[in-house]
Amino acid sequence: MLLWFFQVIFLNSFYKGIKINEIKATANTIEKSINDENIETIISTVSENSDICIKVLSSSGETIYSSHVVKGCIIHSKPDFDEKALPSEVTNNDGELFQYYNHDGYTRETEPEPNPDSDPALTNNTQAQDKPSAEEKEKEKDTLIYSKTIVNANDEELTLVLNSMISPVNATVNTLRVQLYYITAFMILFSVILALVIAKWISRPIEAINNSAKMLATGDYSTQFKGTGYKEIAELSDTLNYTAKELSKVELLRQELIANISHDLRTPLTLISGYAEAMRDLPDENNSENAQIIVDETKRLTTLVNDVMDISKLQTGNISIHRQPYDLTASLGDSINRMNKLMEMDGYQIHFIADQDVTLAADETRISQAFYNLLTNAINYTGEDKKITVTQTIFPNPADDLTDWVRIEVADSGEGIAEEDLPYIWDRYYKVDKTHKRAVTGTGLGLSIVKSILDMHHGDYGVTSKINEGSVFWFTLKI
Ligand code: ADP
Repeated sequence: MLLWFFQVIFLNSFYKGIKINEIKATANTIEKSINDENIETIISTVSENSDICIKVLSSSGETIYSSHVVKGCIIHSKPDFDEKALPSEVTNNDGELFQYYNHDGYTRETEPEPNPDSDPALTNNTQAQDKPSAEEKEKEKDTLIYSKTIVNANDEELTLVLNSMISPVNATVNTLRVQLYYITAFMILFSVILALVIAKWISRPIEAINNSAKMLATGDYSTQFKGTGYKEIAELSDTLNYTAKELSKVELLRQELIANISHDLRTPLTLISGYAEAMRDLPDENNSENAQIIVDETKRLTTLVNDVMDISKLQTGNISIHRQPYDLTASLGDSINRMNKLMEMDGYQIHFIADQDVTLAADETRISQAFYNLLTNAINYTGEDKKITVTQTIFPNPADDLTDWVRIEVADSGEGIAEEDLPYIWDRYYKVDKTHKRAVTGTGLGLSIVKSILDMHHGDYGVTSKINEGSVFWFTLKI
């Protein structure tokens, strides 16, 4: 539309407007230099540069200067061009006169421009009723003469006459019109093809992804996102496939958790209620051994509930650590002694190797909790020799400008952990042993609590383990 607008409808007006401005600018240049001693040279230079024939007439119509650069221009080649009358005619017309001529027939027609600067298009609309139509007239006009009255230093009135040729634009417009038919047809075709391509390559994959996303929202985690077409869509569908995979993992964990927790809760509860009922109904069963079983099972329940609460608090960040300087070595030693007392009867031995006391600023309760979780795991999973070794070492940490850090290792001689399980044991509710052997029933939360506590202390942690070669769980803290 823009091309039609500029190149067909308004081409002529724009062209005329440009010509008028050009001729006026040339006139102004000459007017400014009229008192210059080189005026003759200036006129011929200006005239040559802009292809405009120029004459400067005295008030009586005598030619003072003249520059004839365009062959056949009216002001030089038509003998009946009325020079004598022109100066007074221009003066009477407020000092400025536009004339259009049909060069061939030399039919003169005066048509002062209303205001060519502000709207060149208007030059077309000044015809009276009885005159030829705009189009016919357009063919006739091929010369524009602009005359202007100027005054020189001697107060003499001179008349500048400038003659510019106007090439007919009709032929050009017709050519452009034909070109534009082709361009328009091509553009329409191109737009339709483009629209189809856009629909195929952009909208369709998005629609497909949208449908899959709706399926995902209803809980169908097996949904596949197929993003074909272009890079961004392929990336988006990859991301969504990944999201679906992760969501399905969470869903699986949730189901497992419910199964595990309900199993873990039910077993002690069954024992507690069974023993309690027996003690109530059978006088022989009312002994301290059975009472101990009830106490143990209650503790197991408490641990489970505490673990679940701790981990949710730790992981939602609802828990803060209170760092206080304390003797880590003494604190770990105490935990080990207590545990040793508890486990001695079952034949467990925990050795503690530490060559010096380490004091550091940390949350003692939390660090003890983490250590206790590692120790309990080691007891639960250690081998036949029932031995556990805890080692404390001090080392310059290369990751922390070689300042002193402490490393605590808890080593057991148990079954170890398969390599493929190693990256997951720190996850919540992850248990390697999925079959619930009563002896080693855990919540799957212990290591994830260790991880959260050490993360909060900006400490490091890890494990080296091989099947049947025992495991070494370790953590480090800045001293
Ligand atoms: P759990 O309460 O089941 O022990 P954890 O988070 O403490 O949960 O441990 C996650 C899993 O890592 C355990 O189920 C167990 O399979 C494995 N694991 C942890 N500690 C040891 C260990 N010392 N030896 C062998 N396996 C271990």
